[in-house]
Amino acid sequence: MIFQLFFALCRCFQEPKNCRRGNTSTSREPDFGGTENENFASSPATLTDYESLLKKNEETCKRYSFTSGWTKVRVLGEGGYGKVFLLRKKKTKIARKVVLSQPTECGFSSEEIIHIQMSHPNVLKLYCWEQKANILCFNLEYCSRGDIASHLVDLDEKDAKSYFKQLLDGVAYIHARGIVHRDLKPENLLLTKDKVLKISDFGLADFFIVNGREIRLTEKVGTESYMPPEVLQSHRKKYQGPPVDLWACGVIFFKLMTKRKPWSRADLDDKEYKMWARERKGLYKKDAWKDLNKASRTLLNLLLEPNPTQRISGWRSVCHH
Ligand code: ADP
Ligand code: MG
Repeated sequence: MIFQLFFALCRCFQEPKNCRRGNTSTSREPDFGGTENENFASSPATLTDYESLLKKNEETCKRYSFTSGWTKVRVLGEGGYGKVFLLRKKKTKIARKVVLSQPTECGFSSEEIIHIQMSHPNVLKLYCWEQKANILCFNLEYCSRGDIASHLVDLDEKDAKSYFKQLLDGVAYIHARGIVHRDLKPENLLLTKDKVLKISDFGLADFFIVNGREIRLTEKVGTESYMPPEVLQSHRKKYQGPPVDLWACGVIFFKLMTKRKPWSRADLDDKEYKMWARERKGLYKKDAWKDLNKASRTLLNLLLEPNPTQRISGWRSVCHH
């Protein structure tokens, strides 16, 4: 109860979510401590956990002096709300995401508090964050191959399948921690020099398990072409968390395999989506679809099921297919 109240209060001071920002072989892997929690608990942190996370964050930033001695090498990416830079200190490289953001009453917003708790090979590591006046800096693990979106053109089927499998592993971990990402798309999937996929950008993530109980979500957030119908229609009804990410995984799988989007939005006004929802056989004759084999189509049928209650619910079942 206290936790809920505390978190609700913090949210009051946040920006509205629907206007959120949306080869280094010579460098050694930095070891900045980061998070150590390998526990696949299905409930989010308690208030005490929050206090210790904040303390640990401050200590990590101080201990590894993220504040000084870094040189800006180049811009890695730019979003609606800020920039991501590559920084270097001797042979160590990190990425720093700099966002314009008012400090919140409780000293953090959901992006950093969710991200800092993550510790999985397929989730980008957030070493620590720092808030100085209106500037929020995320000190992140650097992925030298950048995002998957920039590799789509020359992606072969073997890599596509390996990335998809890694994506499902990362998503399973995130869901097992009671968190839904809500903005899974190739631009938010990064690659290390060894082709390890890392899920990044927790700007729209949220808890779907609170105090051990599943809650439904209301906000219409994400990127339109990756949003399932229930999020596009969230003005009518609340939606469950995990099916949203599994739908996005379906759209990503389609994109990895065909280099194209299945539709612009999962809405009956969209011609392609209407065919998917009403008459799939016709769609299978169309360009990108006709190259997909039976197994890929079966998988897409499970992930891109318009009814969220009938959509495949667990990553284990997806892997089985
Ligand atoms: P936004 O919230 O603006 O979408 P992101 O965190 O998604 O910001 O970063 C924007 C882009 O910057 C990504 O799509 C990617 O190309 C690049 N980028 C972000 N983080 C890293 C990183 N750790 N290593 C390499 N490139 C990154
Ligand atoms: Mg992004």
